[in-house]
Amino acid sequence: MIVTLLQYTPDPEKLIEYSARVCYLSQERITPTSHKTFLSGLLKNGHLSVFEHASATFFIEGISRACSHQLVRHRLASFSQQSQRYVEEKGFAYVTPPEIAQHPEALAYYQSLMSTLQQAYEKLVSLGIKREDARFLLPNATHTALSVTANFREWLHIIDMRVSPHAQWEIRDLLILIWKELYTIAPVVFGLTYFEYWSKDIEYKKEIFSQRIEI
Ligand SMILES: Cc1cc2nc3c(=O)[nH]c(=O)nc-3n(C[C@H](O)[C@H](O)[C@H](O)COP(=O)(O)OP(=O)(O)OC[C@H]3O[C@@H](n4cnc5c(N)ncnc54)[C@H](O)[C@@H]3O)c2cc1C
Repeated sequence: MIVTLLQYTPDPEKLIEYSARVCYLSQERITPTSHKTFLSGLLKNGHLSVFEHASATFFIEGISRACSHQLVRHRLASFSQQSQRYVEEKGFAYVTPPEIAQHPEALAYYQSLMSTLQQAYEKLVSLGIKREDARFLLPNATHTALSVTANFREWLHIIDMRVSPHAQWEIRDLLILIWKELYTIAPVVFGLTYFEYWSKDIEYKKEIFSQRIEI
């Protein structure tokens, strides 16, 4: 999978600080570093609506339709996804789950079935069947691409739900890559503070943070 950060709110943490300080008319207390303790306090207190002032957009490629189906359940994010009606899927690329990849017999069977499905799709299209109908035999493993925009509050929520031992490996890997990008542009918001106060699996978050995000 490939995750590309397309756009994000410029200087997002200072914008969130300014917006939140409007509540108290304390903008005159802004300094170059004041957002660090101020935003940490907001995250601890659960004053989370102010984190909706900043957003980020990602282009995601090479995930399965199974994974994208999980991602698009997050209703406060905005999505544009590669269409299987308008885009030709001849010779479609597909995801191989690691458990299958590590099992030679299962892998051979899986690859053979994918090859059969690729041929079947091509056959239907060559018979004049529209892509929108030929796609009914495409598997959950088929690669897809999406552009996804969400505000920082929603990204925190999605990371919390999906960077979890209960989430499936593919969407977890995806959200770890997204978390890393978000941490780079907003280290106070996407550090551990939010999760320390609001996450059900903080020990897991800490482990992932030290191994995959902070580095
Ligand atoms: C480990 C795991 C297993 C799952 N298994 C299943 C499954 O078996 N079957 C299944 O169908 N789904 C499953 N899901 C998906 C899950 O039920 C949610 O649809 C998905 O995680 C989106 O979560 P959300 O609704 O909290 O978030 P979002 O849609 O991102 O919304 C963010 C938050 O906004 C608020 N909100 C959004 N919309 C509304 C609304 N209409 N009314 C009130 N508040 C709202 C809520 O506080 C919500 O938490 C699973 C998710 C996970 C993480």
